[in-house]
Amino acid sequence: MQPQHMHELSVAMGIVEGVEEESARHDGCVSAVHLRLGPLSGVVKEALLSAFELACAGSSIEGAHLIIEEVPIVVYCPACQAQQTIGSIQWFCCPKCGAPTSEVIQGKELEIVALEIE
Ligand SMILES: [Zn+2]
Repeated sequence: MQPQHMHELSVAMGIVEGVEEESARHDGCVSAVHLRLGPLSGVVKEALLSAFELACAGSSIEGAHLIIEEVPIVVYCPACQAQQTIGSIQWFCCPKCGAPTSEVIQGKELEIVALEIE
């Protein structure tokens, strides 16, 4: 694990902890964890995947897969009075009219949405 990915490791450990707590209330083993990840969450997907494997090892959910659904950034454009999906995190402008916007509706997600339990 590279030092710059220590953040992902602590995030992954938090995820494993949360999943362990949740799975303790169910019978069976957790086979997969579904996560929604936004580009503005500050987490690198590939780094999180390998950090999750590390964090899982030796835990009660060892062997569970992390399935990451990447969500796009959605902003609210005051000029269009509509929500717009933008492609780049460097360019916070409305893709339709070009007006600058800073109102982020979606893109900061880092949340567990589902567990697969066998
Ligand atoms: Zn617009």
